[in-house]
Amino acid sequence: MACSISKELIEKTITFHGHSCPGLAIGIRAAELALQKLAQVGKEDLVAVVETDMCGVDAIQFLTGCTFGKGNLIHKDYGKMAFSFYDRSKNVGFRAVLRPDISGDIGPELRSLMKKVETGTAGQEESNRVQKLRSMLQERYMKAGLEEMFVVTDPGEPAPKPARILVSLKCEACGEMAMESRTRRFDGKTLCLPCFEKVEQKR
Ligand SMILES: [Zn+2]
Ligand SMILES: [Zn+2]
Repeated sequence: MACSISKELIEKTITFHGHSCPGLAIGIRAAELALQKLAQVGKEDLVAVVETDMCGVDAIQFLTGCTFGKGNLIHKDYGKMAFSFYDRSKNVGFRAVLRPDISGDIGPELRSLMKKVETGTAGQEESNRVQKLRSMLQERYMKAGLEEMFVVTDPGEPAPKPARILVSLKCEACGEMAMESRTRRFDGKTLCLPCFEKVEQKR
């Protein structure tokens, strides 16, 4: 079944992200899945773990209310189109991974043309074709059933624990305060991460 999120809300999501693109469509559908499967979960208990930092994450933030600042949006830098959602109060959730075959013939053609665009060897016709393929892909994502879009499994990992509030320590090199868990000891001194990295490189 096609996307059930209202046109108006989708428009607002596009405004939040800055443009309309296939990646955002993936995020919109993942958020839709979360709002369906975890509909009863209070905003405070909903946690999203995203394995990409691309366009789609903006839709997750905007539509589910999970944000970095609140600590209920966690990024794992795996470069995968995978999104897990949890009800932290009950420690239940799911992981949704984009099906690679959803893009059909569009995927391979788009990938090879994108390479040409990136290396500056694409002609006008090929650039136009890229735009066409991207909008076709976006439409496919928005019209597909959620089960056609994602493989849904158990999350495989327990819900992430809320971040602890830790004391901050003063870096003995730059004098700035940094959360204790982000400091290092070096040569008997407490250092923030950038200062630690500087002395590490000098060795
Ligand atoms: Zn985008
Ligand atoms: Zn420092």
